[in-house]
Amino acid sequence: MKNAARVISQIAFFIIFIVLILQARMHIWLIFFGATLLAAVFLGRIYCGWICPIHTGMRPINWLAKKIGYKRLRVPRILKSRVLPWIMLGLMVIVIIMSRLARVNVPILLLILALGALLTLIFQPEVFHTYICPYGALQGLAGRIARKSYRVDKKNCDGCSICKAACEAEAIAIKNGKADIHKGVCLQCGLCEQSCPQDTISYRTDRWF
Ligand code: SF4
Ligand code: SF4
Repeated sequence: MKNAARVISQIAFFIIFIVLILQARMHIWLIFFGATLLAAVFLGRIYCGWICPIHTGMRPINWLAKKIGYKRLRVPRILKSRVLPWIMLGLMVIVIIMSRLARVNVPILLLILALGALLTLIFQPEVFHTYICPYGALQGLAGRIARKSYRVDKKNCDGCSICKAACEAEAIAIKNGKADIHKGVCLQCGLCEQSCPQDTISYRTDRWF
C-alpha cells in the first residue's frame, strides 16, 4: 500500500516537474525544493524518496536491471569520502551564476536527471543517491536531525542484513549484530520496513533532546 502511494507520488511530481520545464518555470520547483529542505528537518528526506524526479527517472532502469539480473557495479572506493556531492553542488552553483550572467538557459535539473539515469545503467542506485547527487547532499544535512525517520527496534533485530540488502541508499549498517539506519542518508522509501522478517523497522518520531 505504502509502495503504491510512493509510486503515485513520484509519478505525480514527475509530471509536475515536466510541466514546469515545458513552461520554463523551474524557479517554482527550486522554491519547492527549498521548502522540502525545511520539511526534511521534521520528516526526513521525503523529497528524495517520494518526490525527486531524478529518483523517479532511475526507478524503471533499476527495476528492469533487477528483473533481468543485470549486474551493476557497487560504490567505487574513490567515492566513499562523500566529497563528490559537494563538488557537484559547487559546480552547479557556478554554472547557474554563469548562465544567468550570459543569459543562457542551462537545464541543470534535466542534465542531472540524465546523469542519474545513465549512472543507474552502470552502478547500483546508492552510488548516485548517496555519493553523487548534489541535491541529496543538502537533503542529507537536514535529514541528519530529522524528527521522524525509519528506525530499527533493536531488541527484536537479529542482524540478518535483509534490510541492508534491500536499501538502495546504503543507509543501513549492521553494528554489534543489529541494524542501524543513518538518518542523513535514508531516503524514507520504506523498502527496509517491507523487507524485515522481524517487522522491527518503522517510521517513527525521535526525541530531539
Ligand atoms: S531485516 Fe530486520 S531483523 Fe534483519 S537486520 Fe534488518 S532490522 Fe534486523
Ligand atoms: S530502505 Fe530504509 S533505510 Fe534505506 S533508504 Fe529506504 S527507508 Fe531509508
